[in-house]
Amino acid sequence: MTGGVVTFEQAKICPRCGKPGEEGKSVPVSAPRVPRGTRVVFVWCRTVVCPWYATSWPIQVYHDGTVREHDHSRDEKEYRVLPNFDARSQAVLDAVEAQVAMERRGDGEIRNG
Ligand SMILES: [Zn+2]
Repeated sequence: MTGGVVTFEQAKICPRCGKPGEEGKSVPVSAPRVPRGTRVVFVWCRTVVCPWYATSWPIQVYHDGTVREHDHSRDEKEYRVLPNFDARSQAVLDAVEAQVAMERRGDGEIRNG
């Protein structure tokens, strides 16, 4: 068990075809109690034969550069719960989910710094 902590390079690997995805938009997560600098990076699969071709998945990158692995085996809104999961982590996840949902709807004001 790695505890869900992965490197960014690992997180960029498409869970369906195993090839590295293409890094796309990076969205800062701004919410109370979320450490400044936390962001979500969207990665796109560019493997034409892959079921996830042209599909993006969010990678959550913390202010300190650590990455939390997205649990692709469950509903795509679910993030793996870490052993040291606490209320602050929950606040981060909530903010990330809100940001991701906003991105996918294509509305809301996204400020890029
Ligand atoms: Zn793929």
